[in-house]
Amino acid sequence: MAPDSRGTTPRTRPSARILVVGGGYVGMYTALRLQRKLKQRLRSGDAEIVVVTPEPYMTYQPFLPEAAAGSISPRHVVVPLRRVLNRCAIVIGEVGHIDHAERTASVTTLATGEDGAGAREVDYDEIVIAPGSVSRTLPVPGLADFGIGFKTVEEAIGLRNHVIEQMDIASATRDPAIRDAALTFVFVGGGYAGVEALAELEDMARYTARYYHNIKPADLRWILVEASGRILPEVGEAMGAYALGELRGRNIDVRLDTRLDTCEDRVAVLSDGSRFPTRTLVWTAGVRPAPLLAAAGLPLTERGRLRCAATLGVEGVPHAWAAGDAAAVPDLTAAEPGRETAPNAQHAVRQAKVLADNVLAAIEGRPLREYRHAYAGSVASLGLHKGVAHVYGRRLKGYPAWLMHRAYHLSRVPTFNRKARVLAEWTLAGLFKREIVSLGSLEHPRAEFARAAGDGAGGTPSPGAPPGDG
Ligand SMILES: Cc1cc2nc3c(=O)[nH]c(=O)nc-3n(C[C@H](O)[C@H](O)[C@H](O)COP(=O)(O)OP(=O)(O)OC[C@H]3O[C@@H](n4cnc5c(N)ncnc54)[C@H](O)[C@@H]3O)c2cc1C
Repeated sequence: MAPDSRGTTPRTRPSARILVVGGGYVGMYTALRLQRKLKQRLRSGDAEIVVVTPEPYMTYQPFLPEAAAGSISPRHVVVPLRRVLNRCAIVIGEVGHIDHAERTASVTTLATGEDGAGAREVDYDEIVIAPGSVSRTLPVPGLADFGIGFKTVEEAIGLRNHVIEQMDIASATRDPAIRDAALTFVFVGGGYAGVEALAELEDMARYTARYYHNIKPADLRWILVEASGRILPEVGEAMGAYALGELRGRNIDVRLDTRLDTCEDRVAVLSDGSRFPTRTLVWTAGVRPAPLLAAAGLPLTERGRLRCAATLGVEGVPHAWAAGDAAAVPDLTAAEPGRETAPNAQHAVRQAKVLADNVLAAIEGRPLREYRHAYAGSVASLGLHKGVAHVYGRRLKGYPAWLMHRAYHLSRVPTFNRKARVLAEWTLAGLFKREIVSLGSLEHPRAEFARAAGDGAGGTPSPGAPPGDG
C-alpha cells in the first residue's frame, strides 16, 4: 500500500487519532504509555498514535556531557523511537503550524522539499504538544556567528571534536596568539548544562594534554561566565558553593555576576572589562520554549510557554495537551501560589505519565487527575569521579555524589538495552585508558573523496567540506 498524506499506511479513519508533537522526554514517554494502554485498539485500527519528530531518536540530555567527554558513545545517549514506539506511526518532520479549531497540523518532512507538494496536513482528535525548548540567546554581537549550544548530541560530539582539534592547532602553530586563542574555552551559563559540559570537557582535555609533547594542562584556559551570583542553582546553595570551589580548585576561571557583552571577531568581551581571544564559545545560558508555540494560536504565558491546567490540558482548550519544557504547569506542591514546575527531565517524565492517562480518560469520558510532584533535588557530575548532589534533603559531594549521579541516570535512561550498553561502556572505561581522538572529519564525509576526485581531474585540492557536503 502507498503511504498517505501523513506518511502512514492508509486505512479507515480510526475513532481516536492522537498526534504527538515532539519525540523527546514528554513525546516519547507519553506515546509509550498510550501505546501500552491502547494496545487492543491500536491493533484493531480503532485508534492511532502519530508521533512527529525531527529526529528518529529521543536524546537523553543528562548524558550529553559524558558523551562530550567520551565516556559514553553518542549512539547510547539516544533511544531509537521506531523500535520503542513500534505501534505508533513515526513521522520524521516538524510541525510548523497548528490549526486547533480545525484540528489539523501542518508537517514538513524530509521529503517536502523533494516532492514539491508542500507541507502535509495531519488531522487529529487529541494533540499532545511537546516540542521542548531551544537555547535562549541574547542579542550579543558575534554570538550567532561563533557560539555553539549544548542541547543536542550533534553539538556535544561536535564540541568534543572541536576541543581536541584546538589542541592539535595549538600544538602545531608557531603563532602564540593563535595558540592562546585555541587553548581558551569560554562557557556562558552556570546551570547544570554549562557546568557539567565544562567540567567534563576540561577533565577530558586535561587528560588528553599528557599525549601532547608541547601542551601542559596549565596551558589550557577555561572560563565560566555566569550572570548571577552562584552556579548550579539546581543543587541548592551549599552544593553550588562546593561546586564553585571545586571548579576554581581546578584552575577554572569562574566569573560570577558577569555577562558576555560581545564576541565579535572571536574575542569574548565580558562585562567586567576583560577580553579573551577564543575559538570556542559555548552558550548554555538558559532555554526558551520551542518557536512552534508562538505560531500555534494557543494561550501562552509571558515567557512563551503553553498555559496549562494541572491536568496538563492547555487552559480552556479542549483536546490540546502539553507538558515538559514547552508547558507552564502550576506547581501544586509549591508554598507560594502561581509557581510553575521547572523545565527539567524530572518533571517531564512524570508529567508524561499523567498526561497519557488524562488523554485516555478524556477519550473514555473519565475524570482527569492533577499533576503533583515535589522536586526531589538534583545530581551533577563535575568530571570523572567528581560531583555534587542534593536529593531528598541529602547532600553529597565528590566521589559519592558522582557515583549517585551515575546510578541515578543509569536507572533513568530509557530501555534495558541502553542501560546495559551504558553500563558496559563505563565498565570498559574503568579498565582501559580514555579515548583521546577527534573524529571531526566525520562531519565532512565527502571531503576526502572530493579532494581525490579534484586531484584526479587536475583540479585544486579542496581543504574543507566540498559544496553540497553535509
Ligand atoms: C545538557 C543538558 C543536561 C541536562 N541535564 C538534566 C538533568 O541532569 N536533570 C534534569 O532533570 N534535566 C536535565 N536537563 C533538562 C531536560 O533534558 C529537559 O528538561 C527535558 O528534555 C524536557 O523534555 P521535553 O520533552 O519537554 O523536551 P525535549 O526532550 O527537548 O524534546 C522535545 C522534542 O521536540 C522536538 N521538536 C521541537 N520542535 C518541533 C516541531 N516543530 N515539530 C516536531 N517536533 C519538534 C525536538 O526535536 C525534541 O525531539 C538537561 C538538559 C540539557 C540540555
